[in-house]
Parts: sequence; C-alpha cells; structure tokens
Amino acid sequence: MATDLRLTPSSNLVHPDKDRFLNEENPFEAMMSRFDRAAQLLDLEPGLYKVLRHPEKQITVSVPVMMDNGELEVFTGYRVLYNTVRGPAKGGIRFDLQVTLEEVKALAAWMTWKCAVVNLPFGGAKGGVICDPSAMSVGELERLTRRYTAGIIHTLGPDSDVPAPDVNTNERVMAWVMDTYSMHHRHTVTAVVTGKPVEMGGSLGRREATGRGCMIVTKEALRHLGMKVAGTTVAVQGFGNVGSVAAQLLAREGCKIRAISDRTGAYYNTNGIDVDAAIEFVKQHRTLEGFKDGEQISNEELLTADVDVLLPAALENVITSKNAAKIQAKIVCEGANGPTTAGADSILDEKEIFVIPDILANAGGVTVSYFEWVQDRGGYFWSEETVNERLTDIMRRSFAEVLRSSMQHRVNMRTAAYMTSISRVAAVHKLRGIYA
Ligand code: GLU
Repeated sequence: MATDLRLTPSSNLVHPDKDRFLNEENPFEAMMSRFDRAAQLLDLEPGLYKVLRHPEKQITVSVPVMMDNGELEVFTGYRVLYNTVRGPAKGGIRFDLQVTLEEVKALAAWMTWKCAVVNLPFGGAKGGVICDPSAMSVGELERLTRRYTAGIIHTLGPDSDVPAPDVNTNERVMAWVMDTYSMHHRHTVTAVVTGKPVEMGGSLGRREATGRGCMIVTKEALRHLGMKVAGTTVAVQGFGNVGSVAAQLLAREGCKIRAISDRTGAYYNTNGIDVDAAIEFVKQHRTLEGFKDGEQISNEELLTADVDVLLPAALENVITSKNAAKIQAKIVCEGANGPTTAGADSILDEKEIFVIPDILANAGGVTVSYFEWVQDRGGYFWSEETVNERLTDIMRRSFAEVLRSSMQHRVNMRTAAYMTSISRVAAVHKLRGIYA
C-alpha cells in the first residue's frame, strides 16, 4: 500500500540536531538552518530532504610537500562534492589555516544552491588545504597544489568536478591544477578548471566577475528600494578580488565608497575614498597598511558605519547576533560566502535591512566560470563585452526571480534564494529518480 510520506509543516522536517545549542560559528549548521527553513516552506518530501542534507562525497587527503629547507611537511586537504544532480560539481579551492571539513562541506552546499539560483548546469563542490600560503614560497605552493591535485585527481574532470580559485588561490594556482591534471591524462584539458590565466583558456572578465556581479545586484536592490545609485554611500569589508572590484565598479557608477578594509585595518573617509588610488597602493605594498586617504577605524566600526550599503567581501561569520543590531546600512550585499550567521538573520529582518544573500550576490564568479567552461569546451572565445553583457543578464534575471519569490512567499531574500535553488535541485532529483 502506498503511504503518503509527505509531512506537514509542523512535522519533523527539521535538522535532527536543531534542539542542540546552535553554534553560531559552525558554517555547516548555519547553512543547514537556512536550508531547513526553506525545505519546510517548500514542504520538501522527507526522502529528498534526507538526500539533500548529506554531501555526496567527502575526500580527505594527506599532502606531503618537500619544503625549501629540505624537510618533508604533511598538509591536510579536502574536496567535498555536495550534489551533482544538475551537472558537474563546481567550486573553488581555498588555502587557509582556518579550513575545516565542516567549513568545506558548508561551502560545497552553498555552491550547489548558488549554481542553482542562477540556473547554471552545475552541482556544487569545494576544496581546501589547511596551510598558511603567506608563509610559503612559490615553489612550496606549487608542490602543494600539484600533490593535492594528484590526491583528488580521480574526482576531477570537465564532466565531473571543475575547481576554481577561492580564498588565497588565484590564476597561477589554477594553471598548476590544470597542468597536473593534463600531465596525468596525457593531453591538455583546459576545461578541468576555471579562473585560469587568459593565455591558457581562461575567460576575459573572470577575475572581475564576482565583484561585477555584486555591483549589478546592488544596483538592482537600490532600484527596488527606490534609492538613487549616484551618491549612495558604501562600506566594503575585504579588499581582495571581490571587495576591490566591487568598490571600484560601484564608485564608477557614482557611489561614494566611505570605508574599505583588509586584514591589516579599515579606513574611513566621509567624502569617499579614492578606490583607484587604494588599488594602486595595494599593488605596490601588497596590503592597505599605511594607506593615507582616510582615518583608520576598527573592523567593527566599518561594519556598523553610517552608510547605505554594507558589502562584506572577506570571510565567514562577520555579521553576528552581537553586532547585527548596530548595523546602519539599508542594504547588505554579501560578497563573501557566509558572512552573516543564522542568528543575525532575524535581527537584520527586524531592522528591515534588505539582504542580498551570498548565494545570489556573489554568483557572478561562478557564472563567468560557467562561461569559461563553455568557451573551453567549444574552443571559441568571447569578447569581454559579450561576457559582461551575459553576466549582467543572468544576474538581473536571477535577482528578479528571487525577489518575486520573496514577495510571493512573504519571506526575506535569503529564504527566497534557498527556496528557488532547492526547488530546482529537487525537481531534477524527481525527474531522474533516486537510485536507491
Ligand atoms: N570560489 C568562487 C565562489 O565561491 C567561484 C567558484 C567557481 O567559479 O567555481 O563562488
């Protein structure tokens, strides 16, 4: 006899660990609590719910590296494929001392929802190696990258798992990943990674794509709230690939960038920071330390500064239940992955702050990664103008879809983004059936 396994919203369709004290800092729990809320609102079938709360594959590798001093060091690396029902796994590799398996799992899940929210034919993955790249030579980094790649090579491939840059990795690291994979496969395979140098199959516009995407959705949010772009004041946390480009492009649109920061400190100028000068300064000095065009403030002061838009573009867990009440911005555009803890969500809601959630706000990067993969596979490359036009189309359309869903279901943009992406992933699972 067929049993109706559908659960009512008040049923046990929640994370089994929900009653345990929610650890604000645990990114997997942060992801899961948002996932649970969206799954409940979607009345997701219990079987599918169970499938979607487990990563498909988790790989841990030991990575021996010959250091410059002649001693062997062994690093730990991870690659998590969260879900691949919609296509090859996609997601970056980060090198950082803070990397944990829990974090990589959360980031891989976020990649799954991110690719689905902008409707790319990809699943989600993430990789990480526990290391301090700032304390390593170029040679050590190359050996680390190649040995890590060899360790996870069985999962990689243009049709199975396609890495990209993330925190502390860049084009050069992607070139080593691509070369190592290609050497093992005995022929050149450009489409195995994205975010490569343009000379070897990278896409024009890829480096700026995440920051450009943040600029596009910030403008959409301003328009939705009836605010003018010109003169809008902005604080940007993080001055890497995402923060610096978003700041520069928003400044070009007429916004006033009042505050910027990096790991060495934060700088505030009520009349607006000269972002081009700051980028030039970082090119020369590597960090913002000693930058003079603004008074030095604390990171906490940057987050709670008197601005219209706050753009966290650094690491996870910076907007928490402790500081959320003090945020003055009307819009938060999440350039980083997971900058807001689950505990802070309701506080931002109460303050009626319009949050453009990470899985939508920073999806510009993976969108141009998708363009790069398409170009590599077709062997035909697009102009930067075409890349930027297509990126703008996808970001605007995705913003509009999430906004529509948020109004229809009377939920915030984050929950609407999760609902949109989870329903897309679930739909493909239903069509394919679960091979159980
Ligand atoms: N690391 C970026 C992200 O978190 C890009 C991932 C990709 O392009 O695959 O979205």
